[in-house]
Amino acid sequence: MALHTGRHFLQIPGPTNVPDRVLRAMDMPTIDHRGPEFAELGLRVIEGSKKIFKTEQPVIIYPSSGTGAWEAAIVNTLSPGDKVLMAETGQFATLWRNLAEKFKLQVDFIPGDWRHGASAEQIEARLKADKTHEIKAVMVVHSETSTGCISDIPAVRKAIDNVKHPALLLVDAISSLGSVEYEHDAWGADVTVSCSQKGLMLPPGLGFNAVSDKALATAKKNSSIRSYWDWHEIIAANKLGSWVYTPATNMLYGLEVAIEMLLEEGLDNVFTRHKRHSAASRAAARIWELDVLCQETAAHSPILTAIMMPDGHDADRFRKVVLDKFDMSLGSGLGKVKGKIFRIGHIGHFNDLMLMGTLAGVEMGLDLAGIPHRAGGVLAAMDILKRSEVIPMSQPRTAVA
Ligand code: PLP
Repeated sequence: MALHTGRHFLQIPGPTNVPDRVLRAMDMPTIDHRGPEFAELGLRVIEGSKKIFKTEQPVIIYPSSGTGAWEAAIVNTLSPGDKVLMAETGQFATLWRNLAEKFKLQVDFIPGDWRHGASAEQIEARLKADKTHEIKAVMVVHSETSTGCISDIPAVRKAIDNVKHPALLLVDAISSLGSVEYEHDAWGADVTVSCSQKGLMLPPGLGFNAVSDKALATAKKNSSIRSYWDWHEIIAANKLGSWVYTPATNMLYGLEVAIEMLLEEGLDNVFTRHKRHSAASRAAARIWELDVLCQETAAHSPILTAIMMPDGHDADRFRKVVLDKFDMSLGSGLGKVKGKIFRIGHIGHFNDLMLMGTLAGVEMGLDLAGIPHRAGGVLAAMDILKRSEVIPMSQPRTAVA
């Protein structure tokens, strides 16, 4: 391996760059997770998480990856044999479907081409046809990290309400929470699933379920076997700031500071920043004459740009050139787009010049790997960043209530 100097460019759409301030917060002696100091931290991070999910309802924090939080949503609300409706938005929707099938759920998987978000119209039509209300949940990935397409969650909620269907709405907000507008309560989600290593700017290791009253009531009646993931025992323990098993103590120190940072910047500013970087990346792709995978203008992801390779060119070979030469990790194509796309992550702890370094690395890599493209994408991105509104980066470093 070549020796590289300076910081590695981690431009995958999660895990994302962890701010030094968060790393420092985690670099602490581990404390007694049943002691009074931990209980105060526990209460603070639970309350803080609610501000990010935009909910007044319980948020359950697991020592887990996002997949664990997916499983928690399923085992608490659904039982083997239940019918659920899902949309094939990409690889993560497919993996969630596979997980649901392992729990013996009957999945109606609305086919998709991986270039669009979920269709609220198709969801409404399926629910309308379900006169006996056999469908127990609609499960949608908000930000499909494998494709760079966003699904319109309020439109999905409206589709459910339009036909007065009682199905729960389960949303994967794993790569949108803390980087793309998301409102658990106002959007009427019943379970929102997320995890630590994306917009929350933490290392992998925490999974989240935000839950509605309806989801809690369903879980209470649900007799499916579960233990580690059971919401009710954790929520009861959380009232006193503790957990039923050992929580990820030092990750929670980091979570507290990450939430503080997001609130200091202001969530709306965070969302605008991600949109600017997405617009600049797409402008670069346009000049390079390379197609962006997501074909729906309103659904372009603010957190990543998935770029298609010209026919006959392997995206993974290109990524290797960029990694070897410039020490930058770009996201690979997953599942059926493996080798056909690469993904530029512009999510989390990130700024204009990091984006410019990233796009410069991509443009130089395209050249070195012999990928047909037009030069000048970097200049187009610079133009967008120069002209678009700059977010106040120099706000005082005091906590916002
Ligand atoms: N859902 C989405 C949208 C994701 O992006 C990911 C991971 O990248 C997952 C689910 C799975 O999360 P994890 O790998 O933390 O288990």
